[in-house]
Amino acid sequence: MIDFSKLPISSDKNIAVKVKPAAERAIKQGHPWVFEDAIVKQSTTGTSGDLAVIYDKKKNKFLAVGLYDPDSPIRIKILQANTPARVNQTWFEDRLKQAQASRQPLIDQGITGYRLVYGESDHFPGLILDRYTDTLVMKIYTLAWFPHIETLLAAMQNSISFDRLVLRLSRGIQSNPYGLFDGQVLVGTEITEPISFVENNLTLQADVIHGHKTGFFFDQRDNRQRIQELANNPSVLDIFSYVGAFTVYALAGGATSVTALDISQPAMDALQANVRLNKYDMNQVEAIVADAFDGIKQLNQQGKQYDLVIVDPPSFAKSQAEVDRALSSYQRLVKLALPLVAPDGILMMASCSSRIKPDTFFNLITNTANQQGYGLDIIDKTGHALDHPIGFPEAEYLKALFARVKQ
Ligand code: SAH
Repeated sequence: MIDFSKLPISSDKNIAVKVKPAAERAIKQGHPWVFEDAIVKQSTTGTSGDLAVIYDKKKNKFLAVGLYDPDSPIRIKILQANTPARVNQTWFEDRLKQAQASRQPLIDQGITGYRLVYGESDHFPGLILDRYTDTLVMKIYTLAWFPHIETLLAAMQNSISFDRLVLRLSRGIQSNPYGLFDGQVLVGTEITEPISFVENNLTLQADVIHGHKTGFFFDQRDNRQRIQELANNPSVLDIFSYVGAFTVYALAGGATSVTALDISQPAMDALQANVRLNKYDMNQVEAIVADAFDGIKQLNQQGKQYDLVIVDPPSFAKSQAEVDRALSSYQRLVKLALPLVAPDGILMMASCSSRIKPDTFFNLITNTANQQGYGLDIIDKTGHALDHPIGFPEAEYLKALFARVKQ
């Protein structure tokens, strides 16, 4: 399936590195990133994916071992800190088993779709592994993993069960000279249809080859459960619906009707498939393919109102420079969404921008609502699900507010 001979070879010579005092402190505290400008000395130039071993400046004591990444300002991505490690197949196996064990509470609930490895927080910096029943989807964000793929695959085969492994590559590394491509099946049979999985007793399906990220957003599982509980009989508006996960949960909770809105036609097609898969009637669902801002304006012009409005936009701030614009986009969305909430209805709004902190987001919603003459009775403020552990501050991205809207 995969021609390992084309992959870069993992060097058996480590790079010895010394870093600035502030970086030493951060490493000791478990922060997994060493930036380019924190490095004061390195033994060799090194190539992508070499192991970099960081020693403390005064006593030359081991501090951490990580992946050397010359293509990124995050020059060393730490695999293990404070205790020396031989990073080999056994080390990968141990980390995978550890990650799998910590997801056991989900597995015990019969959930078969979850994040098995959440990057740095699970000791795999720049790498995500999502499980869709017997299919694993590995998303890689840095070329530094390429020399380790063969070892990693062997470790996976020894430590976790699966029938198929699909590779997804972040945009920056999709064109590479190593013969790996986005959507490639590395292990198992080719994919001919969407992959089904169970989440909170509902069966959903995802296109793991073409879908966003790895095909589905497991991070909203707990929030969806909450929506199901709140959706006893209401009319629902699901803005940025993607493949309709919130829509299906709302129907399962007893929603009388759901209006789903997303800019993507393939997402809407998948939404219809998910609704049907769960034996709900598409007559209950209105699917609108449109830009959210335009679509919401139109719904406002038509005087539409819903008992439950869900707003789950994509990350608006992909870099620090975009934060201000992101904040004003969230603000616009709040202003547009509030008049669509029926008297005493509920607004659920989420943000997946890690650069916007939970309090900033929650305050923005409350303040904007107040300025517009609405009061919010907060039902809940939620964060990360169990399979997205927050190992360091930058790993935290998801937050959601559930509030009853008072006119
Ligand atoms: N709520 C979904 C995830 C949403 S992801 C879930 O629970 O699975 C964000 C979605 O926003 C994507 O489906 C994307 O197609 C859509 N999107 C991005 N920009 C948009 C825009 N301007 N208008 C409407 N939808 C948009």
